[in-house]
Amino acid sequence: MVAGNDNGVRAGGDELPREAAWWEPEGDQVHCLLCPQDCHIGPWRLGRCRVRRNLEGALRTVNYARITSAAMDPIEKKPLYHFRPGTQILSLGTFGCNLGCRFCQNFTISQGEPPTQELTPGQAVELAQDARSRGNIGIAYTYNEPIVWFEYVRDTAALARAAGLANVLVTNGLIREGPLEELLPLVDAMNVDIKAMDDEFYRSLCGISSGAQARRTVELAFGRCHVEITNLLVTDANDSEEDVRALVDWAASVSPDLPLHISRYRPSYKHTAPATPVDRLQRAVEIARAQLNFVYAGNVMLDGGSDTICPDCGATGVARRGYSVSSRLSGTGACGECGRALNVAL
Ligand code: SF4
Repeated sequence: MVAGNDNGVRAGGDELPREAAWWEPEGDQVHCLLCPQDCHIGPWRLGRCRVRRNLEGALRTVNYARITSAAMDPIEKKPLYHFRPGTQILSLGTFGCNLGCRFCQNFTISQGEPPTQELTPGQAVELAQDARSRGNIGIAYTYNEPIVWFEYVRDTAALARAAGLANVLVTNGLIREGPLEELLPLVDAMNVDIKAMDDEFYRSLCGISSGAQARRTVELAFGRCHVEITNLLVTDANDSEEDVRALVDWAASVSPDLPLHISRYRPSYKHTAPATPVDRLQRAVEIARAQLNFVYAGNVMLDGGSDTICPDCGATGVARRGYSVSSRLSGTGACGECGRALNVAL
């Protein structure tokens, strides 16, 4: 990796940053068509995500190949519990986000301007291949929002796919359908953060008028790549029984086999409400399990809260303690006892 800066403004003969995909000119403004923030960006200005800039009449991506974080993580940490359980994945992040969640756990990279190093798509795939001997299955685009890294994710994912590596997105799902359709054929698995069913939550705590497009992303992606969803239960904001029921009703309408991770919130960044009470989290899991077959508790130790249980015979398909995984699945990812499919991709 090569150190550098990435403010995206040409200085003294440097080349302009790479032109972005999914935009149209509008006089001296540019209109970004990547996500539902729908930014109209004046000359020299950045979009809401702070990584797409109008430079000399074109939209340019200032974080292409700029890395803030790179690590080998257990796939369970994404979290993905039904995709290649027990494996490791090279996880890469940049900076920027199309949201501004007040409770963001990764605000130093999503909202800040951290130092970066260069890692081209070719170098990323080389790194991922070198890590195969340590159990690496591919590349996860994570830590900050990968949608605002669209061009790099697309280019790297194409090379990774050709090399037989898996591509994983950990995303808020707020992408327009055109770019999603361009990316989907390259994606093997995604975890989509469904923050709430209520637009007021997205408006007041996340800085976008609606979360509908995140649900649409799940609906479009389910069946075309492996999909799991996460819901962070934020104290007194989206943790009522009605909130949970609305989320679960929708998730069950996608599929009762759609895995749901209900995660415990802890105070972070600008949000100071106390951590989610554990009994509320337990109740949310209970409500969700009445309609969904695979519900997990995150950021908290609940008895059996991380295990995959067969909904037909009750056998434990995958037992988890922290990131230690023990599988009793069949060779095809079905229940080892009764053979019921458990929506597991091996
Ligand atoms: S990707 Fe960035 S610039 Fe484009 S619409 Fe979304 S927030 Fe605005």
